[in-house]
Amino acid sequence: MKGIISNLLSKQLPKIDDAKEQIKEAYKGDDHPWVVGYSGGKDSTVVVQLVFEALCEMPLEELHKKVYVISSDTLVETPLIINSINTTLRRIQDEALNRNLPIETHKVKPDAQQSFWANIIGKGYPSPNQQFRWCTDRLKIDPANQFITDKVSSFGEVIMVLGVREDESVTRGNVIRSHTVEGKTFMRHSTLSNAYVYAPIRSFDIDDVWNYLLNHPSPWGDDNHELHQLYQDSNSGECPLMVDKNIKESAGSCGNSRFGCWVCTVVNEDKALNGFIQSGHDWMKPLLDFRNWLAEIRDDRTRRMKYRMNGQIYYRDVKIEEKDGIPHVFIPRKSSRLAQFIPLEEYEILEKSELKSYIQKNKIDLSSPEDHKILVTYEEETLDGQIIQKYAQLGLGPFTMETRKEILTKLLEVQKEIQHPNDPYYELISVDELKEIRKIWFRNGDWNDQIPSIHKEIMGYSLDWEIDDRPLFDKEQISDLELLCDQFQVDFNVLKKLISIEKDFSGYKIRRGLMNDIGKVLKQDYLHL
Ligand code: SF4
Repeated sequence: MKGIISNLLSKQLPKIDDAKEQIKEAYKGDDHPWVVGYSGGKDSTVVVQLVFEALCEMPLEELHKKVYVISSDTLVETPLIINSINTTLRRIQDEALNRNLPIETHKVKPDAQQSFWANIIGKGYPSPNQQFRWCTDRLKIDPANQFITDKVSSFGEVIMVLGVREDESVTRGNVIRSHTVEGKTFMRHSTLSNAYVYAPIRSFDIDDVWNYLLNHPSPWGDDNHELHQLYQDSNSGECPLMVDKNIKESAGSCGNSRFGCWVCTVVNEDKALNGFIQSGHDWMKPLLDFRNWLAEIRDDRTRRMKYRMNGQIYYRDVKIEEKDGIPHVFIPRKSSRLAQFIPLEEYEILEKSELKSYIQKNKIDLSSPEDHKILVTYEEETLDGQIIQKYAQLGLGPFTMETRKEILTKLLEVQKEIQHPNDPYYELISVDELKEIRKIWFRNGDWNDQIPSIHKEIMGYSLDWEIDDRPLFDKEQISDLELLCDQFQVDFNVLKKLISIEKDFSGYKIRRGLMNDIGKVLKQDYLHL
C-alpha cells in the first residue's frame, strides 16, 4: 500500500494511460460485442471503470458495438454486497445513457431449479466444501455462460473482458499465461467456442489497482473510497464473477470466500460476514449462526443418506487403531466434526456379499438418519505381496429428508427474524425456489406435501401454491401402500418415486423419457447389492 500514498501525491499513472489506449485499440479492432464481468470487487471495478473512461474518450462514431456489463447474483449473495452491486449497475446504466455510450448492464442468476437452496434443501446436496465445490458451476459459471452463449448466437463471436491479474496467485498467473497466444490480445475461452477472453489489467499489481481507484473518481458517481472501506470492513477478498472453468480452478479467491455468498461453507470461517458484523452490522448475526450450523452438520453421518443421489453405493476405508489395548475404528476430524474412536466390537462386520441380506433381514433403510454400525471387510495385496485385512463403511450421500426439512425450517425462521435495515422485503429464499423444492420433494416421495404447511407454520401466511402439485393419496392410502410394500418386500421409497414419475408424464400423448426415468430408479445400486 506504500505505493498508493506516493502516487496519490504524484498522480502519475502511465500504466493506466497505456491500459486505456490498449482498450480503445482492442474495442475498435472488430465487431464482436464485449461482455464485461463485474463482481463488485476491486479488480472488476477497475476494468469496468477503465472501459467506461476509454469509451468516453472515443468519438461517438467509433462506438460501433455493444458492451454488456454483467454481474452474477447467486441469490445467496452477502446482503451489503448485492445492494451495492444493484446500485452500481443502475448508476452505470444511467450514466451510460446520459453520455450516449453503448453500454448495457445485466444481472445473471441461476434458474430456480439450480439455486443453492434447490440443490441443498430440494436435492439434498451436502453444503459445498473444497473437495465438492458444486456451487460455482451452478450459481455463477452456468448462468454467465448462458448469457454469453445467447450473445454468441446473436453476434457470432463475443469477447469476455475480465479483471484477472497475473499477480493474484502463482496458479492464476500460470493459467493466464497458458491461455495466451503470442502477439494476440485475446485468449481463447477454455470451454465456449466463439468466445474469447480479454484481460486488460493482467499486468496490474495490487498497488496499481488501488492507485487507480483512489485517484480516479468513479464516472457513474460511486465512491471508490467506500469500496476500499468495504474491503477493510469485510476483512477479506471476493468471490469473483467466474465465466471460465480453468480460471475457476485457479481462483483460490472463491474458495477462500470473501465477497461471496453469505452461506458459503467452502471456507472454514466466513471472513466476510464476520468482518461486517464486527464493523457494526449486527443484524447479520443470524445469517452467520445459520451458516455455521450448516457447515457443522455437513459431515454428520446421521444427517446423510448412505448412498449417492443416483442410488449408487460406495465404501470409504476406515482405519483401525488400538486404544487402551482394544481395536477402535478411527474417524478422522473433518471441518467441524471432531475425531472419534469407536470400539470395533460395536460394529457388525460383514463380507461385501453379505451386505444385501443383512440389510433386508434387519429392514435397514439407507435413506434414513440412522447410522447402523456396519463395516464391510475385504482383503488387499500390498506392493510387497502381503495380504492385509481392510475395513470400510458405507460412504455418504445427500442430506436425509429429515435434515432437508430441518434446514428449510431454520432458514425460514431466520428469514422471519432478520431485520435488513434498508430492505423490509429482503428474503433468503424466494417463492420460486420454494415451489421448485416442493416439486423435487414430491418426486422424492414427499406425498404428505410438507412445504406449504412448513411455510405457513413459520411465516404465518400461505403462498399461492399450484393446485396441480396436490398429493396423490391421502394418509390412509399411503399407510396401506406402505403395509403392502412391507408384505411383498418392495422398497416403499422406490414405489413412491415410480408413481411420481408416472404422474409427471400422465396426460402426455408422447411419453418420451418415461422408460428412461423408470430405468434410472430401478437400476439404483442399493436395490441390487
Ligand atoms: S462464495 Fe462460496 S458458496 Fe458462493 S459460489 Fe463461491 S464458493 Fe460457492
